Amino acid sequence: MKTMQVLIKPMGMLRQRLGGSERILEVPEGTTLEQLLGQLGLARGAVQVVMVNGERESDLTRPLQDRDEITLLAPVAGGNSSESVVPLTLGEMQTIIRNLYGPKDDERGLQGCFLWFLEEVGELAAAIRRTDPREIAAELADVLAWLATLANVAHVDLGEVFYQKYGRRCPGCLQHPCVCPAEAKP
Ligand SMILES: [Zn+2]
Repeated sequence: MKTMQVLIKPMGMLRQRLGGSERILEVPEGTTLEQLLGQLGLARGAVQVVMVNGERESDLTRPLQDRDEITLLAPVAGGNSSESVVPLTLGEMQTIIRNLYGPKDDERGLQGCFLWFLEEVGELAAAIRRTDPREIAAELADVLAWLATLANVAHVDLGEVFYQKYGRRCPGCLQHPCVCPAEAKP
């Protein structure tokens, strides 16, 4: 029997369930997503979103190809099953953005991506002026997505640098919580 290799990338809670952040699995040629989930011991309801090579895939009967990358996102416990919020780490957010836009972002480069980031900041400013909560939320998502892009292009792990700088204390006064005077930046 011929086999092929696929890369499994569980996100969020599925990491603990599958015992690690990612792994290569050897499966028979022609294995479908449905069969793969079965092999991993995952019921259909245990996975909310399946992405193959960074694109959302809803047809679980589709046969996989050698070297496909399969990202698995778990539904939130107690959440509304069809459109619930998926808890993400900053690293997972960067991975999602990289899978979606990586090559385009690299080509645009840091300067080019920074202009798009600024444009989204401008749209957030406009949304705040209009005080529309839904619009503000959508623009915050855009700003965060472009921040993740900048970090990807610059090869920066956002979670790591954020924790180093802010995880334990204010970088200005070195206290937790911050005791800097109100007019100081932090
Ligand atoms: Zn401070």
